Amino acid sequence: MSLDFSGWQDLAKNLKIETRAFINGQYTEAQTKAVFPCINPSNEEVIAQITLCDEAEVDAAVKAARAAFDSGVWSDLAPRKRAEILKNFASLIRAHAEELTILETLDVGKPVSDCLPVDIMGSAYCVEWFAEAIDKIGGEVAPLDPKLFGTVTREAIGVVAAVVPWNFPMLMSSWKYAPALAAGNAVILKPSEKSPLSAIRLAAIAKEAGIPDGIFQVLPGAGQVGKLLASHHDIDCVAFTGSTAVGKLIAEYAAKSNLKRVWLELGGKSPHIIFADCPDIVQAAKTAAAAIFYNMGEMCSAGSRVLVQKDIKDVFLAEFKKQAAVYIPSNPIDPNSNMGPIVDHVQYEKILGYIEKGKAEGATLICGGHSKKVDGKGYFIEPTAFSDVNQNHTIAQEEIFGPVLSIIEFDTEDEAIAIANNSEYGLAAGLWTSNLSTAHKVSRKLRAGTVWVNCYDEGGDMNLPFGGFKQSGNGRDKSLHALEKYTELKATLIKL
Ligand code: NAP
Ligand code: MG
Repeated sequence: MSLDFSGWQDLAKNLKIETRAFINGQYTEAQTKAVFPCINPSNEEVIAQITLCDEAEVDAAVKAARAAFDSGVWSDLAPRKRAEILKNFASLIRAHAEELTILETLDVGKPVSDCLPVDIMGSAYCVEWFAEAIDKIGGEVAPLDPKLFGTVTREAIGVVAAVVPWNFPMLMSSWKYAPALAAGNAVILKPSEKSPLSAIRLAAIAKEAGIPDGIFQVLPGAGQVGKLLASHHDIDCVAFTGSTAVGKLIAEYAAKSNLKRVWLELGGKSPHIIFADCPDIVQAAKTAAAAIFYNMGEMCSAGSRVLVQKDIKDVFLAEFKKQAAVYIPSNPIDPNSNMGPIVDHVQYEKILGYIEKGKAEGATLICGGHSKKVDGKGYFIEPTAFSDVNQNHTIAQEEIFGPVLSIIEFDTEDEAIAIANNSEYGLAAGLWTSNLSTAHKVSRKLRAGTVWVNCYDEGGDMNLPFGGFKQSGNGRDKSLHALEKYTELKATLIKL
């Protein structure tokens, strides 16, 4: 970490914040001049007034994207050349890492010491990884009758809209635009209303890197822009990360317009199973706390249901309480902070509502449970956990998206698997055991896109696919599989 507390504070004080949409290579206000406030959740103050895009801006961006895509200025570049520009882009993200970090922290409340390495450097790594990949994958020659010659190739899909959430604004965006740009598409990025700042800044960085006008555009808005994009007749693909409820709407908008390709990365209620033969209870408790309290629990993959085997429940709970106490709501600009505020007032109230629900349903509060002010302000919530949770309780079924853990006791392996899979979601899962057979058997039975054994949330590596089973979505971000989302497959046959 390069800056100390006062260094970050100075950076925050002297920031010049760009607030406008980025269309066809230019920052621009909305035709209506409408704006919406961007609020700092640490002190509840307005940081900036952001351009509120609407139909005119969406149409202008789609028109520019279509023209840029059709011109071949990006899609027809030699892959090696596209790779070079994207590598520039990654280097520039790194060069602006501190500025992007402070923008993200002011906007969503993420601790700077998590944000810089994970969100900002993680997005640079993502861009670089896809840049490096694109000139190394080719097509196929199909084994056909010798009188025919057939190739199977992938080509860019066209105009891609990326609609993203606020919990990892930079990182989640990069998981979409990096493979989409690498494959030769034009991208329109729509950040969440709760977190527009970094995406807006990123647009100028993309341009500086050499990405042509119209190929990377950013449309901030509140509510309606995502719908306009997903319903647009001249967009070829919408890649969405967000809630399952909105994901369903996105699929509906696509179905009712032009059947654009729809890729959904949605919510989760991930089980984290601690078997009695867990190799290291202290490590498991520490990991279980990180799995729900890191990023204030605003994690799609949060290990929000701990399933603990009866025989070790008491030891585990005692250790877990110690590990939870490590997370202290504090000013996220302080590099010593490991827990900032909740992203906004709406999410804060929603989480507090779930805490009340947990109490009302009869679960036992073992730590936290209250909101907190830091220097008299902000939407902070203590790291909170309930034990004696029944698998059918609301807090065991619904995604809270905050620092609230539900701990459920189980007896047998079969019972653990049944409880783990008793969810409409299937994003991730974890399990702790010393028995190799248990590890294999249970991993295979868990209906989840990622399974961690004797760890959780490991593997920031870009070569691992990430995404969900069931109502956690379809398709995968990260890895070469992500490129499949942004390409069409073409068979070409030549009669010899
Ligand atoms: P959200 O409310 O679904 O919003 C996501 C995006 O959709 C935002 O850009 C939002 O824009 C837009 N949107 C809202 N209503 C819309 C509508 N009717 N039509 C089209 N677009 C609309 O989700 P969120 O609260 O930002 O994010 C939290 C959710 O994301 C959680 O469920 C979490 O699990 C999930 N998530 C999943 C993954 C994964 O990889 N599976 C990763 C991170 C987060 P506005 O802000 O302008 O309304
Ligand atoms: Mg904000």
